[in-house]
Amino acid sequence: TADISTISEKTLSSILEKNRTYSSQGKVADYIPELGKMDAKAIAFSVVDKNGKVFNTGDVSKKFTMQSISKIIALMVAVNEKGEANVFDKMGYFGSDRPFNHFSNLETTGKPLNPMMNAGAILTTSLISGDGEKPFLKVLDMVRYITKNPTIDYSKSVYESEKFTGHRNRGMFYIMKNSGLISGNEDQLDNYFKQCSIELTAEDLAKIGYFFANQCVRFDGDSTYKNAEIAKLIESQMLTAGMYEFSGEYSRTVGLPSKSGVGGGITVSVPGKIGIGVFSPALDQHGNSLAGYHMILDLVKQYNLSIF
Ligand code: GLN
Repeated sequence: TADISTISEKTLSSILEKNRTYSSQGKVADYIPELGKMDAKAIAFSVVDKNGKVFNTGDVSKKFTMQSISKIIALMVAVNEKGEANVFDKMGYFGSDRPFNHFSNLETTGKPLNPMMNAGAILTTSLISGDGEKPFLKVLDMVRYITKNPTIDYSKSVYESEKFTGHRNRGMFYIMKNSGLISGNEDQLDNYFKQCSIELTAEDLAKIGYFFANQCVRFDGDSTYKNAEIAKLIESQMLTAGMYEFSGEYSRTVGLPSKSGVGGGITVSVPGKIGIGVFSPALDQHGNSLAGYHMILDLVKQYNLSIF
């Protein structure tokens, strides 16, 4: 295996080309109607190396919605504000063995399994303080900060599509409101839909991966939010629950904290080292990007990046 410091755009593009064919074997998410319009063939691969240098290949300017990847940012904002103990008093640290939209423990213990599945993520966002869309704006600002990309915004059409079809998420919201875990009104659910609709590129995702890999220090060295404990918390959740019910097998094959979204993105943290961002909207049966998974797997094998 090669040393990751020798990474080049050429290596990335040969891995991308090798795995491009997977994009015709997966399926674009269409349970959110607006997502069904995505180009299944789009594919991009980015790495931010230890020194913050960016390597890009493929459809690097293609934007997509971050979807579930927003859950790690919301978790960071909520824990920064409320403290870890208060957030995890209301939900578990459990790994995921169920699909992301599963009701899991809501009807038994009442508490979501973890902040990476929808129930726990909806609850997490509701814990961020502020009226109306203020909690969402805090999440958006954090994404803009981490990526150093102030042009990032959310897609109104994807947001509306989620809001009008997200009845299952609405059901979870009201079960948690019924049990007293959630105290606000439906603005809080809208904030979750909005954060899922934030649009970015594979490069932005690589910068997010870098941030959590490096104790919440930004790729350019800015250490405003430096916090080793929060980074450990987020990475541990990514490892045990970031790829939904595939997380266990993924930790065997890839072995890195990662978070996927049904928009086709995956962000990966190589602890103490680099960040990886992939995009390919054709998904596998778990809702993870199929070509994205295979690109990550090849990079990990080539440079021996598993933490194990
Ligand atoms: N917005 C999506 C949902 O709530 C996010 C799910 C995902 O990316 N897995 O269904």
